[in-house]
Amino acid sequence: MADNTIAPRNIFSFFGPPGSGKGTLAQQCAKTWGAAVLSTGDLCRKHIAESTEFGKSLEGYLKTGQLIPDNLITDIVTDWLSNKLIVKKDIILDGYPRTGRQVESFFGFLKQQHDFSIKFRVIVFDISAEEVVRRLSSRLVCSNKECQTIYSLTSKPPVVEQECDLCQSSLEQRADDHPHVIRQRLEVFASHKSDVLDSYRRMGHEVHALRVDGKTPEDVFNDFAALIGMRASDK
Ligand code: ADP
Repeated sequence: MADNTIAPRNIFSFFGPPGSGKGTLAQQCAKTWGAAVLSTGDLCRKHIAESTEFGKSLEGYLKTGQLIPDNLITDIVTDWLSNKLIVKKDIILDGYPRTGRQVESFFGFLKQQHDFSIKFRVIVFDISAEEVVRRLSSRLVCSNKECQTIYSLTSKPPVVEQECDLCQSSLEQRADDHPHVIRQRLEVFASHKSDVLDSYRRMGHEVHALRVDGKTPEDVFNDFAALIGMRASDK
């Protein structure tokens, strides 16, 4: 990351309902500031696409909009983080922790690192259920599992119809972006929300709300930059 990155080092957790724009903002931060991003959903979809043993065990959960078991997700996140913490970069966790238990095991892991330069901040994406449904029905994702760039037919269409601007692979609708699965994912999110936020409050962690309703990806990025004290133009 560039020299003007906020010191010492941040780990941001993006926490919000499906379709709230966590992935879009994370991709923008990676592009602009070089933040290292782990999207647990993307990682799961990659394993499924590659038919790894792990991927096979996940398929049923993703298809039905259920969360995968806490111990499985925590193992892959801490594995990824162990390598990333060595590099001095800001880190964005897109979609983790998302249960009270995940919050606890995540902090157990961080404590073991004995790295006091890490500043952990939670960004809660604030959006209405109506906007979520509207957004998810116009969302397309790059089918290349190494890329998974997110598009929106309304707010961020690809330059060429049905084609990824970055790798030219075809775009597809996510398998879990169908109305009955969306409803299930929203319910799952709502059922864990207060648990997660209570855990943070108990532990005294900073929780910032980011209002995203009715905002373009660019506005959300600018608001996020202001919230965390970074200039949107920093490179
Ligand atoms: P969204 O937040 O839009 O539902 P994601 O791409 O973040 O989508 O996640 C898709 C799916 O991946 C989830 O429905 C769940 O099955 C699985 N998943 C992702 N992150 C986690 C997590 N932290 N804990 C458990 N399951 C997860």
